[in-house]
Amino acid sequence: MDEILIEDLEVFAHHGVFEFEKEKGQKFLVSCHLFLSLEKAGRQDDLRLSVSYAEVADLICKEMQAQSYDLIEAAAEHLCKCILNTYEQIQEVHLELKKPEAPLPQKFGSVSVKLQRKRHHAFIALGANEGDAESQIRSAVERLKYRDDTVVLAMSELIESTPYGGVEQDNFVNGALEIETYLEPFALLEELHALEKEFGRVRHVHWGPRTLDLDILFYDDLILNTETLTIPHQDMANRDFVLNPLLEIAPWLRHPITGKSIAQMATEVKEKHVC
Ligand code: ATP
Ligand code: CA
Ligand code: CA
Repeated sequence: MDEILIEDLEVFAHHGVFEFEKEKGQKFLVSCHLFLSLEKAGRQDDLRLSVSYAEVADLICKEMQAQSYDLIEAAAEHLCKCILNTYEQIQEVHLELKKPEAPLPQKFGSVSVKLQRKRHHAFIALGANEGDAESQIRSAVERLKYRDDTVVLAMSELIESTPYGGVEQDNFVNGALEIETYLEPFALLEELHALEKEFGRVRHVHWGPRTLDLDILFYDDLILNTETLTIPHQDMANRDFVLNPLLEIAPWLRHPITGKSIAQMATEVKEKHVC
């Protein structure tokens, strides 16, 4: 992909763990690589088809000075989100924030952090069967919509399903969500767990009743198999209550391992239930 680069943009701001850093302020240097297609702007020689580096520089200065963070990590994270939220065309940001006057006793050139943030496309399974299941699911989706690192692109209708896994319990409400997020996979899982907790989720029995269950089904084309996170969700091919809502919002989507589309998977699981 093409890039727009800004190197060592100088900004006076008030970030730092120490009180004197917040009071006095110091110089910071911001460099960023913005990844987007510049082909059309180049061909037509039209700034409106590109992103103005002058505008991005203004945005960086304004946001660096709008509040003070303890950590340059937090300031850099904030800048990445602001850039991606302001410019739809930018797919990815690599940003370095240098602190050349950091309070260190040794002689040094500068200290810095470097972040890479990009738009990811993910699908989430929604489920609940304790309390007011439907309203908990809808409120959780609203909470996701308020985040500045995530956009809800589509939500399926909510359906009722019978419990899965042999535990006797109330029927479930299920649905599926399509999101765009800057959160990395483990951060997304952590945030989904926090949301489950906020809505009163207590893990009593495996596959037992729950006020809210949010599972990551797909995350770009990622294939990941770790102790705490498996993507795509490992049992989705056997679950009609996952595939049917997904079928409504992404029938074309393909499983990165089997290559099957959601439409195919939903048909296969239906045939299995009929047999
Ligand atoms: P299932 O995952 O079979 O639907 P469950 O949703 O009832 O079961 P939980 O108790 O909610 O299971 O989660 C158990 C653990 O599963 C979580 O702590 C998490 O670390 C892990 N996990 C692995 N892959 C995923 C995923 N894709 N989405 C959500 N959690 C996952
Ligand atoms: Ca689940
Ligand atoms: Ca879960």
